[in-house]
Amino acid sequence: MANSKFEYVKLYESDDRLLPRTYIVIRVDGRGFHQFSKKYDFEKPNDLNALNCMNKAAEGVMRNVQDVFLAYGQSDEYSFVFLKDTNLFERRASKLMSTVVSTFTANYIHAWSQLFPNNPLDGNFLPTFDSRAVMYPDVQSLKDYFSWRQADCHINNLYNTTFWTLVQKGQLTPHDAQTKLIGTLSADKNEILFTDFGINYNNEPEMFKKGSILRWEKLDHKYPKNPTKRQLDKYRKSVRDAKINILHCDIIKDEQFWNDVLAEEDTAATTTPTS
Ligand code: ATP
Ligand code: ATP
Ligand code: MG
Ligand code: MG
Repeated sequence: MANSKFEYVKLYESDDRLLPRTYIVIRVDGRGFHQFSKKYDFEKPNDLNALNCMNKAAEGVMRNVQDVFLAYGQSDEYSFVFLKDTNLFERRASKLMSTVVSTFTANYIHAWSQLFPNNPLDGNFLPTFDSRAVMYPDVQSLKDYFSWRQADCHINNLYNTTFWTLVQKGQLTPHDAQTKLIGTLSADKNEILFTDFGINYNNEPEMFKKGSILRWEKLDHKYPKNPTKRQLDKYRKSVRDAKINILHCDIIKDEQFWNDVLAEEDTAATTTPTS
């Protein structure tokens, strides 16, 4: 492209490259999903189809954005982790965030049309998401990040399950249910569910209690070194075809889970391109 006298404006672009050798986590979150879930009549406290729609959207990100090796989602949010040594977009934060959030949104809308054929999206009320990027310097802080999100899932889900049981089965008004729950601990909520409604919280679906973890079944889509176009096409096809597993396990306590995930990340990192 020929230089022009206007090109100096490029100098105004700030350098937003994220630090090397850190785990980049990008979290997307639905904008105004409290309202969105009312507008589209989500089942409360957990609409299974809506969660599946989030999972499909996240799968779309894993398949289409290179170097994402793990994702975790709950409610209207999803977190994506990149290989520690990724050089995608030269690690530029704005490029990474905007690519992840737009890929996620596009896939969410596509999945919606398949999962909710009788509840089409209203052009004046479309789902949108924001995103942020955070760098974690080591494995411990990465694990703690996921533990934080999974603990948040558990606390919200126990609260919401108790709240909606009081409203739906206990005939309380939302205001009275909220008042009843003020100051209660986890044990109190478990007790209300069990004693008043015969519900054992432990038997609630794992996806509602723990959220969803997406992992490549086997991270064998290693990026070729200095690939030719043919190798690159082959690599891209292998990523598209690779299987993604959805788990609902306990990532706070499960050491084996992290050993497995990080072993895979290690193997992949050594083959990640540096240019
Ligand atoms: P913000 O724009 O600040 O994120 P928000 O309204 O999206 O605001 P969040 O804190 O992100 O608020 O909470 C998301 C809300 O979306 C939940 O409180 C819940 O009401 C609703 N929601 C999301 N997913 C589901 C689902 N699968 N089933 C039922 N409700 C859901
Ligand atoms: P990157 O992912 O790096 O942005 P890109 O392929 O999107 O790569 P751009 O520099 O953004 O490259 O250029 C967009 C290209 O898309 C143009 O070169 C042109 O080939 C094509 N394109 C965009 N809009 C149109 C259009 N309306 N009609 C025909 N071609 C178009
Ligand atoms: Mg939200
Ligand atoms: Mg949220």
